[in-house]
Amino acid sequence: MDHILSGIKPTGQLTLGNYIGAINKFVKLQDSGESFLFIADLHALTLPIEPEVLRTNSRDLAAFYLAAGLDPNKSNIFLQSDVSAHAELAIILQNYLYMGELSRMTQFKDKSSKMKEEAIGLGLFAYPVLMAADIVLYDSKVIPVGEDQVQHVELARDLVKRFNNRYGDVLVMPRAEVNKVGARIMSLSDPTKKMSKSDPKGDIYLKDDPAVMRKKIMSAVTDMEAHVHYDPEKQPGISNLMTILSCLTGKSFDEIEKEFEGKGYGDFKRAVADAVVNELEPLQQRAKQIIDSGLVDEVLEKGAKRANEIASGVLSRVQKAIGLYHK
Ligand code: ATP
Ligand code: MG
Repeated sequence: MDHILSGIKPTGQLTLGNYIGAINKFVKLQDSGESFLFIADLHALTLPIEPEVLRTNSRDLAAFYLAAGLDPNKSNIFLQSDVSAHAELAIILQNYLYMGELSRMTQFKDKSSKMKEEAIGLGLFAYPVLMAADIVLYDSKVIPVGEDQVQHVELARDLVKRFNNRYGDVLVMPRAEVNKVGARIMSLSDPTKKMSKSDPKGDIYLKDDPAVMRKKIMSAVTDMEAHVHYDPEKQPGISNLMTILSCLTGKSFDEIEKEFEGKGYGDFKRAVADAVVNELEPLQQRAKQIIDSGLVDEVLEKGAKRANEIASGVLSRVQKAIGLYHK
């Protein structure tokens, strides 16, 4: 059975982008292999975050994983910081990734662009090193991510090639698994930018009040074309809303275009708002029940136990291969 690996950073409230691009995909894949789905709390430290916020977000994230339908008997859900092999392996792998390639990463450029160099932490620059460690630690072949993370998975593939050329067949080659539709949900207020939980502009949060979700969708930026048509270049806002509707209802773009032929954007937006609320309102209720039930701690403990078993084996294999003393 293939291993599946992915994580989400507890940096802020989860967005509809995280749900469509990542969480929903994890649920669809969970019967095709053993999943290792972690809460990337070490990655969340790459930009300043308050301890209490980090703790709350981490617990919420685990609850939303479960509420979305991840079954703790099939998927291992755990905190990245509960498996020390992530940090240990990253220290080793940083010697096999280079400054030049790390400085070309889009995420680093985006996140550091508005910062003074003196304030950019080394961890933000080295983010893809830790992510490569996350990926290879579970011998995982399948890495479900949104489009923005594909570049990091490609870098992990380069690292595996480089490492195995030097030491033999030590690491398993991963590949990114990306949605055909919904790999990049855009901001509702600026549909040329990705929706991101750390950038509140144009986000729909999974925890938003349904009335707020509706309001955000009804005021989403569109265009003057006055027809519902999929064309991300000319109609990025409408195309983004069509993507959201398609992902949540299973309708194709053709079906959506036909359904709204001759109708105004108001009708179309109302249908998108209905689909979003129908999906997220029950999800919120389940997440709340899960938090109140105390299930999260139990699931995280069980997940970390299994994750540690696999990760410690892979870490030893790497240590042995590179000549660290091993009895
Ligand atoms: P941050 O702003 O802190 O980077 P984020 O919303 O980008 O937050 P991440 O924790 O970086 O979330 O990413 C978690 C997963 O969600 C990744 O697989 C990422 O590719 C996916 N993802 C993030 N944003 C989107 C989006 N707008 N559309 C589709 N997938 C997304
Ligand atoms: Mg991100």
